[in-house]
Amino acid sequence: MPLQSGSHFHHTVNRDGAHASICNRCYFTVATKSSESELVLPEESHICDSLTAYQVSQYVHQVIAIMDSFAGRTESRAVPQLSRVSA
Ligand SMILES: [Zn+2]
Repeated sequence: MPLQSGSHFHHTVNRDGAHASICNRCYFTVATKSSESELVLPEESHICDSLTAYQVSQYVHQVIAIMDSFAGRTESRAVPQLSRVSA
């Protein structure tokens, strides 16, 4: 079961028992460590890749448009916005 920590990092436990931290903004795997407590320092020093974050936001918009076309929706609707990141 995934563990949650902080405001924008998602923690998972790999099959080998290692703890991984994934940034919720740019989806970069920030660190993989043997214990969850070791993820704090890499998370604090993580700087999002703004290009990757932009590409993820574009992908989300495309997926929503495709889902809407299958559902027969023609009107535009609000889509989730990723927060701006600085490189
Ligand atoms: Zn990031």
